[in-house]
Amino acid sequence: MDMGIKGKRALVCASSKGLGRGCAEALATEGVDLIINARSADVLGETAQAIRETYGVEVEAIAADVTTEAGQQTLLSAAQGVDILVNNAGGPPPGMWSDWNREDFIAALDANMLAPIALIKALLPAMIDKGWGRVVNITSVSVKSPIPILGLSNSARAGLTGYVAGTARQVAGSGVTINNLLPGLHATDRTISLDNMAAQAQNKGLDDIRQDRFRDIPAGRYGTSEEFGAACAWLCSQHAGFVVGQNILLDGGAFNSTF
Ligand code: NAP
Repeated sequence: MDMGIKGKRALVCASSKGLGRGCAEALATEGVDLIINARSADVLGETAQAIRETYGVEVEAIAADVTTEAGQQTLLSAAQGVDILVNNAGGPPPGMWSDWNREDFIAALDANMLAPIALIKALLPAMIDKGWGRVVNITSVSVKSPIPILGLSNSARAGLTGYVAGTARQVAGSGVTINNLLPGLHATDRTISLDNMAAQAQNKGLDDIRQDRFRDIPAGRYGTSEEFGAACAWLCSQHAGFVVGQNILLDGGAFNSTF
C-alpha cells in the first residue's frame, strides 16, 4: 500500500538503533527524508549512511542528547518545518519503588515526558499552519500495564500519555494527528541488556530467561524493529488521518484483555 508520504520530512529522535531506527527505516522506505538522532556520533553516522544507500532518501544525522534543552535546540534548529515527528529516547533504569530520589524522577521526566512535549510544542505550529502533520511518540506497554521494576518509566510515560490525550484533540481539526505506540518486548539492545540483568539476578542462562519471557507472549517471540517501524509508518501515512490520540499496543498479545 502506498502510504502517500513520499517527499515529506521527518525528525526521528533516538534512532541510530532499535525501535527508533525501525521507524526511520520504515519512513525511508516510503520516500520520507529524515533527520535522525542519537548521542554517539559514530553509530549514528553509520546508520545514516546505510539508510541513504538503501533507500535513496536525504538523511541528516544530528548527534545530540534529546533529553537536554541544548540537545533539543540543536535538533530544532535543523528540524523547523518537518511534517513528521517521532519522539523517542532511552528508557530509565530499573529498580525498586524505594530506590529513586527526586533527581532520578526529574531525569526520567526529562527523558520520557518533558523532551517529547518540548519538541511537540516547538514543531506543531508549523504543522498546523500547513494543515498536515503527524506526531508519533514511542512510549511503552507500561502505560497500560505497569512493569514493577520500571517504576520511573511507568510514572514518566503516564505523564506524556495524559498530555497527548488532551493535545491530540485540540489539534486534530488542523489535520495534525498525535498518537502513541506502546512497545511490548522487542528484540533490541535495550531488551538484551534487561535480559542480561535478569539472568545475573536470577542466576540463570540468557536462553532460560528468554524462554520464560516467551511463555508470557502469545506470539511466542519478541517483536522486531521492522514490525514496529511499519506500524509507525502507517500512523504517519495519509490513511491514518482519522486516528487521533490513540495508544496502540504492539506486544504479541501479552496484555490480556478483550479489547
Ligand atoms: P535501544 O535499542 O537501546 O536504542 C536506543 C536508541 O536511542 C539508540 O539509537 C540510542 O543511541 C538512542 N538514545 C538513547 N538515549 C538517547 C538520548 N538521550 N538522546 C538521543 N538518543 C538517545 O532502545 P529500544 O529498545 O529501541 O527502546 C526505545 C524506547 O522504547 C526506550 O525508551 C525503551 O524504554 C522503550 N521500550 C522498549 C521496549 C523494547 O522491548 N525494546 C519495550 C518497551 C519500551 P545513543 O545511545 O548513541 O544515544
